[in-house]
Amino acid sequence: MVAEVIQRNEARRRARCPPQFCAKCGRGGPDVRLVQDHIVGLAAGGLDVVANLQWLCDNPCHAAKIKREQAAGPPRILGARMY
Ligand SMILES: [Zn+2]
Repeated sequence: MVAEVIQRNEARRRARCPPQFCAKCGRGGPDVRLVQDHIVGLAAGGLDVVANLQWLCDNPCHAAKIKREQAAGPPRILGARMY
């Protein structure tokens, strides 16, 4: 119960203070635009929750991920490729 509350507060804190670095390549700084990304895309059945969010640099990491997801085509039946 208490642990759940702490976890929720931590999740809120993280959502308010985006990290300064790309989760994939680690780049950061004023020249790097970070975008919030769903680790498992919503189209692939990913949830819109903090645990499924990460910050990626707009280019190339996020752009490459979008391209990969588009190349993979429509999602298969839920659960088939999750793990
Ligand atoms: Zn990156």
